[in-house]
Amino acid sequence: MINKDIGFLIDMDGVIYRENHLLPGALEWVQYMRENAIPFIFLTNNSAPTPDDLAIKLKHLGIPNLTEKNFYTAAMNTADFLSETHPLCSVYSIGEAGLSSAFQSKKIPNDQLHPHYVVVGEGNPTLEKLNKAHELIEKGARLIVTNPDNWCPVGSEKTRPGAGALAAYLEASTGQNGYYLGKPNPYMFAQARKKLGKNISRVIMIGDTMETDIRGAIELGIEAYLVLSGSTSLEDTLNYVYQPTRVLEGIHELLEEYKSGQPSDRKSSPTLSSLFHTNDKNNSPLGSQHKDSQRLERRRSRPQMVK
Ligand SMILES: [Mg+2]
Repeated sequence: MINKDIGFLIDMDGVIYRENHLLPGALEWVQYMRENAIPFIFLTNNSAPTPDDLAIKLKHLGIPNLTEKNFYTAAMNTADFLSETHPLCSVYSIGEAGLSSAFQSKKIPNDQLHPHYVVVGEGNPTLEKLNKAHELIEKGARLIVTNPDNWCPVGSEKTRPGAGALAAYLEASTGQNGYYLGKPNPYMFAQARKKLGKNISRVIMIGDTMETDIRGAIELGIEAYLVLSGSTSLEDTLNYVYQPTRVLEGIHELLEEYKSGQPSDRKSSPTLSSLFHTNDKNNSPLGSQHKDSQRLERRRSRPQMVK
């Protein structure tokens, strides 16, 4: 029997889909959570799309009937942060529809003259907008960044510059440091946890990025499952002080374990054994996982993903 107090925060790119196709088990995992009334929220650092945009994207990829309640973006997190900490503030924002709609929903006005904050999100700004942002920061506006990603994966070997890189430009030109929302800021995880519901005492984050998904979850004190279906190889995890609670090949593996009620026989699974109230004492320590993995290929070195 599944515990009723469990909820999932799930990263999207590299966990649910990659490029323009669903990853194995993604649809079935969403169906499983729905059938068993397990609350879940997709948690993304991409501040460009609106929740409705994301629902349409997943529908086209093959997961229908998601609504805006199923998503929490770094743009929404930034709007929540400003409306909580500075209710009557105004902003000059550089970003896409996801950012402007998040501000509209919290009634945070756009201000081209004397904004309290310049907010930088994901997108492709013109040099004119960056110059304007520079000018406003020079006049006293504070720099807020929706997410710290310096680059974002576009495909298996392709990346694009992220909001963190745009913020670095403004930090260099103004000498002012930005404040970064989104993952791994625990504020993102704490807000998303609230949205899962009051009765959810056990929250599990599933993600593919150590610097954002895993770090933020560990710092908030929730469980962090790393999947190797995205931007991180098992070898990469050795570069970090913090470590995931579990490592999985992909979300399909979690689905199999939940459906069968049996922890995988080749990976440690304290979570599954407690979830299904089993008394499996033969779980191996985390360090011995993936002895048989063939995924230890070396990747070309990239700049740090986040600051
Ligand atoms: Mg990801």
